[in-house]
Amino acid sequence: MRQKVLIGIAATAFIISGVLIWRNFRDTEPVRRSRERIFICAKTGKPFEHTIQIGESEPIYSPHSKANTGYHAELCFWTKDENGEWKAKLDPTPVLLKSLFDPDAETVCPDCGHDVVGHNPRPPQELMDAAKRAAGQ
Ligand SMILES: [Zn+2]
Repeated sequence: MRQKVLIGIAATAFIISGVLIWRNFRDTEPVRRSRERIFICAKTGKPFEHTIQIGESEPIYSPHSKANTGYHAELCFWTKDENGEWKAKLDPTPVLLKSLFDPDAETVCPDCGHDVVGHNPRPPQELMDAAKRAAGQ
């Protein structure tokens, strides 16, 4: 009888630790991703990935210029098809916001010419879905 109780306790502890581990994994994944940001080098115009560290501030070190010229990039998910129709794409173009340097400057995507603003909005969900379907996802 005593042994059965012990097995029951052990099984319960095993299940609880499993749930805790699962919750940890579930919670850390989006947090990790949101810290992993795409930056763009203001000097060379080239993008690079960087995980911002506590205490770090922009401009951050750019591996392209070997100097602190890295700013977080806005992502343009727009593209134009051969008929000049606006479409969404899944692989965004990183764009450096000109307003970081001149508050009045407007930014357009060097790839497609679409306006790019701070916290750049994605194309409407139906266009993103269409892009996913076109990519077979
Ligand atoms: Zn674009």
